[in-house]
Amino acid sequence: MKVVKFGGSSLADAAQFKKVAEIIHADKDRRYVVPSAPGKRFSDDIKVTDMLYVCYEKALRHENIDADFQKICDRYQGIIDELGLDLSLEQEFFYIKNSFMVRAGRDYAASRGEYLNGIILAKYLGFEFIDAADVIFFKENGSFDGPRSEQALQERLAKTSYAVIPGFYGSMPNDTIKTFSRGGSDFTGSVVASAVHASLYENWTDVSGFLIADPRIVKNPQTITTITYRELRELAYMGATVLHEDAIFPVSSAGIPINIKNTNRPEDPGTMIVKTSDEISPFYITGIAGKKGFSVIHVEKDRMNSEVGFGRRLLGVLERHNIPFEHLPSGIDTMSVVVSTHLIEGIRSQLIDQIQAETGSDIVQIDDGVALLAVVGRGMRKMIGTAARICAALAHARINLWMIDQGSSELNVIVGVNEMDFEKATQVIYEVFVDSVEQ
Ligand code: ASP
Repeated sequence: MKVVKFGGSSLADAAQFKKVAEIIHADKDRRYVVPSAPGKRFSDDIKVTDMLYVCYEKALRHENIDADFQKICDRYQGIIDELGLDLSLEQEFFYIKNSFMVRAGRDYAASRGEYLNGIILAKYLGFEFIDAADVIFFKENGSFDGPRSEQALQERLAKTSYAVIPGFYGSMPNDTIKTFSRGGSDFTGSVVASAVHASLYENWTDVSGFLIADPRIVKNPQTITTITYRELRELAYMGATVLHEDAIFPVSSAGIPINIKNTNRPEDPGTMIVKTSDEISPFYITGIAGKKGFSVIHVEKDRMNSEVGFGRRLLGVLERHNIPFEHLPSGIDTMSVVVSTHLIEGIRSQLIDQIQAETGSDIVQIDDGVALLAVVGRGMRKMIGTAARICAALAHARINLWMIDQGSSELNVIVGVNEMDFEKATQVIYEVFVDSVEQ
């Protein structure tokens, strides 16, 4: 049995609904369907979720929402009409609009995007509609209630072979609606897949899987055919986005693979996300991703190496300010802490003073403008010279390598470069691993 999730662009209009139905009906194992709200139909279109947020804000400010709300209804009505469905959502629209006026909550407002789309999709497919509010639960403190949701899903889905369960929201113990963070339908799909012990979680979107590098930086990068959950975590953390970052946890603990597929090119194999894989990419690396916006707190003190507790005192200052650190490259008498620049804005001089006072350091200095780049691949374990190739590629391009860090799991090498060299660094690393194999 497969659980399939379709993103907003896959359900943006009636033409996309038709593609989705064709995909679902082509395989009778595709039994439980999790839809997003209608997304963008063209690049400067507005997602229904965003329309709902805007409309609700207006309701909160006691502004007239007639025109905004009508635009939302029109999106759905257009889909219903074009699909020729015998379905009226008038009562739902009426009820939802009234709920906006009585301030039923921002999350409630946003969740209606998935809710209404789910009703239409269920009708079109001939599947049962199951309101996520009845099967996805949050705890009092707002965190997701896994065990309760799993039990409800198992009980409910045992009674029905084919169903549509809208993504993105669930209910709180007091019966109000709460949503996950943006893009959260991916998470709902993962929870459903894990609850029903699916053999596969298909996540249908508008790209044919993950790319080895960001296509805005590297021209026509290759697609990743297989990636492990851990590799994906590393790449996602560094900015590669296709899947909601929490979405891998429910399925990964159940050992269920995820297949990222393209609704507009269903014949493409997409990317398989698996627990472990012996298949090594011909490029040895699985992906490259990175982020700008890091700062380095550079600390120097004579005979630091013999001083017990120095690192703890230094990191203690950051901990008090609730600042997580990314990396900690160190020398004999130096230690550098890499942190996100936006987290230290406004408290720089305080940090410097406190570090100086608590560690007795000779020099404490903050440098901005650092980009981190992760080269990720399970193949590195078996390959000698990965770091050498990365360094050589950067050296040939005359890019100064500020830091290099290889995780002891040998799954990734992280390099720190100047922000202005970030794009070039990504390109030359891609070339040395991927283009060299292609030729
Ligand atoms: N519709 C929601 C959003 O735009 C959730 C989702 O699409 O997964 O974030």
